[in-house]
Amino acid sequence: MSVNGALLRLTVLGSSPAVPNPGRACSSYLVESNADRVVLDMGTGAFANLRCHVSYTAVSAIAISHMHADHFIDVVPYRYALKYGDERPKTRLPLLLPPGGEPLLRAMVAAFAREGSAGDFLDESFAVGTYDTQHARRVGDLEMRFAPTRHYIPAYAMRVSHGGRTLVFSADTAPSEGLVEFARGADVLLCEATLEPGFEEIGERGHSTPAEAGAMAQQAGIERLVITHYSQHVGAEAIRADASRSFAGEIILAHDHLKLDV
Ligand SMILES: [Zn+2]
Ligand SMILES: [Zn+2]
Repeated sequence: MSVNGALLRLTVLGSSPAVPNPGRACSSYLVESNADRVVLDMGTGAFANLRCHVSYTAVSAIAISHMHADHFIDVVPYRYALKYGDERPKTRLPLLLPPGGEPLLRAMVAAFAREGSAGDFLDESFAVGTYDTQHARRVGDLEMRFAPTRHYIPAYAMRVSHGGRTLVFSADTAPSEGLVEFARGADVLLCEATLEPGFEEIGERGHSTPAEAGAMAQQAGIERLVITHYSQHVGAEAIRADASRSFAGEIILAHDHLKLDV
């Protein structure tokens, strides 16, 4: 139940890991209140899925968790829509990048932007900025916070709150005490489970199994766990069974277009 009828709704736009599952996009999640909408990540194929739910001009901001292509590459088709699409917004769309992300994105688009226009490629359509991991940020009536995860490159979990309800998105992460603390008290943890049940990641760790996602949710006192960023070939039952070894609450498997009131 939400406070005063306030709404915080999650729509999954992309539930795949870096290798897209058949018919599914990579990491992207629409989180909306009654008045505002933020898109967390804009992975491969996610822009077309966004259009199934809302006008691309009705989004208040995009926030990118980290600069792996499966989390941001559809910023490019989003830019084409803002510049050439049938709806052209009058203001630029805030694009909130992780610390260090802006030079990478600019270098990438410079490789295919028309000569002399590389500087405008993003800036005509987006208000490009970097989020501050030390302070909360408002996107309309949504409050956002960011915290580092345990991944191969700098990556940031995101906490979105409105009307007394809170969703935490893990981004990509290995098991992380920092994420557990960051997620404490949230209503829903949207957590990656890239690794197959029982898989032991050797050396530097950057991802989690379903059981590890469940353990983080359990330690954080979460009641509803949404598992995402998983390979479809593993099978829903195997993922559920593994997560339930360590998590006593409700387990929901993300799929593209899933809607959930937080
Ligand atoms: Zn990923
Ligand atoms: Zn990643």
